[in-house]
Amino acid sequence: MVNEKMYGLGSARSAIRELFEFGKRRAAEIGADKVYDFSLGNPSVEPPKEVNEAIVSILKEFGSKDVHGYSSAQGFLSTRKAVADKLNRENNTNISPDYIYMTAGAAAGLCIAVRALNEDKDEFIILAPYFPEYKVFIEAQGAKVVEVPCDASLNIDVKAFAAAITKNTKGVIINSPNNPSGKVYDQKTIKAICDILESKSKEFGSPIFVISDEPYRELVYSNTILPSILSMYDNTIICYSYSKSLSIPGDRIGYLAVSDRCYGKDKVYAAINGAGRALGYVCAPTLFQLVIERCIDAKTNIFDYDKNRTLLYENLTNIGYDCLKPDGAFYLFVKSLEKDSIAFCERAKNSGILIVPSDSFGVKGYARIAYCVDYNTIERSLPAFKELFDSYKK
Ligand code: PLP
Repeated sequence: MVNEKMYGLGSARSAIRELFEFGKRRAAEIGADKVYDFSLGNPSVEPPKEVNEAIVSILKEFGSKDVHGYSSAQGFLSTRKAVADKLNRENNTNISPDYIYMTAGAAAGLCIAVRALNEDKDEFIILAPYFPEYKVFIEAQGAKVVEVPCDASLNIDVKAFAAAITKNTKGVIINSPNNPSGKVYDQKTIKAICDILESKSKEFGSPIFVISDEPYRELVYSNTILPSILSMYDNTIICYSYSKSLSIPGDRIGYLAVSDRCYGKDKVYAAINGAGRALGYVCAPTLFQLVIERCIDAKTNIFDYDKNRTLLYENLTNIGYDCLKPDGAFYLFVKSLEKDSIAFCERAKNSGILIVPSDSFGVKGYARIAYCVDYNTIERSLPAFKELFDSYKK
């Protein structure tokens, strides 16, 4: 009666969503002040003031047909021009607006990119720890997922990556700053990945594409430098979202960009348009395309996330937890206090702490803490983290 695969996807909620729903139920039972919900990557920082100002002025200046009507399928030329100009300024590239495709967030962009590239059961590599939806997005396009485990310090295992590439490899999704680990892969690692991709593309006589999933691009702390994959590897497709960088995940806006040096870029871009059409991902939200055009250089308040990061990292480390200090995004990976991180996260619930086991991110033995919450929530949660830690001493 229905597609069994889709039925399965729709009836099995993701671990993260499940936890979020549990948090709402638990708050109603014991009071919201006793539940510390670190489950979702929903930005806690207000959008930059330019965003709301742009919405108000656009509503005043434009007629409703212009604000609520369709744009062209790939997005307004003026928006795509603003996006291309910014990418070129920051990456020393020369991308024309004709290679930008506006999307409803990174999720749509990722599906479009895989659909555009996949010929027949091509392989797409994902690097643990990874965003769990990658598997859904890749498989839904008829392609095959190849998982590459990380090394002991949660970095890309370059050797394992090289070994995973076959003649059927069409692409690799790279996500840095990384959800869930908060890692920013350094220049040396990215260079090694690019070199391997170049030599394997030559060996197999067909290009292997990088799909660079960059929704956390602007969320980088301290002196960490984020390498520009776009300037390091020719066959790159950027998948970007304003969900995190402008704190507007519900407004669903982002883009795909094809590198000006990409092999067969006209064909790739045409296939992106075709995939957008086939998936029904055309005419990204008009109002928010116009907002992006006006807010292209707006910046989120990274200082608040940084304050949260420091508060959480220092206090958890003092309690005795083994944490990976995040370089970017707004997630902190903490080592589970028992072998089974699912059991650890279940036990954390008893102290009111909602964190996500690392298993669904392709790594065992950790939990993800999304610290995009109020500073006050982190302060209040610290005794609960201590209680959880102490419960393992008994
Ligand atoms: N990629 C990563 C790594 C993410 O963390 C997310 C959302 O959390 C997405 C993609 C999807 O983002 P969007 O809201 O733009 O669809």
